[in-house]
Amino acid sequence: MTDTIEHHLTDALLMAYSAGTLPEAFNLTVATHVSMCDECRARLGAFDTIGGALIEDCIETDVAPDSLDATLELINNPAKASEPVGASRASDCILPAPLRDYIGGDLSAVKWKPVGMGVKQAILPTSKEATARLLFIPAGAAVPDHGHRGTELTLVLQGAFADETDRFARGDIEVADEDLNHTPVADIGADCICLAATDAPLRFKGLLPRLMQPFLKI
Ligand code: ZN
Ligand code: ZN
Repeated sequence: MTDTIEHHLTDALLMAYSAGTLPEAFNLTVATHVSMCDECRARLGAFDTIGGALIEDCIETDVAPDSLDATLELINNPAKASEPVGASRASDCILPAPLRDYIGGDLSAVKWKPVGMGVKQAILPTSKEATARLLFIPAGAAVPDHGHRGTELTLVLQGAFADETDRFARGDIEVADEDLNHTPVADIGADCICLAATDAPLRFKGLLPRLMQPFLKI
């Protein structure tokens, strides 16, 4: 599966992850992609040599203790990070291990809330600097046209979606920022499930999504 991943993490994200300076929601998303992707795992390994020194310096900073522990755990235990590729083949799990551990189960443990138009979300408990959510987009459905005030990471766990930039399938991660406006649309063939992390509210164009925004915490 890892051969088919075309969209990867940026160096900046891998470096920040290695240094333990990312908000918990981004940490989880990066860890989940790395667990699915040999290429980013190898790049992370290269950064860890430098990152090891950086972590020493960062330990006294105000990074959430849990988030640092989780990062250290994954960095010090690459076997754990690489486990889900094989594990998911064996057990047919949709959610890679870092995410399964976080949620405390596979998809059946997710408490979905309807967002409208068949789209569902489940906000994951993380520290407040950023938000992580699972998104369920029915086959052929669209997420309303929106822009971004900060960074949005979207990692595909099942199915695929396409937007103005490209198509993203399982394992692919889209890194969006202020410069991108997009309307992600799920492939016709299968429902799409993504893990999305944002560090600022989205900027919706349509009136209805804008009105709904405070209720959806998007
Ligand atoms: Zn990758
Ligand atoms: Zn977006």
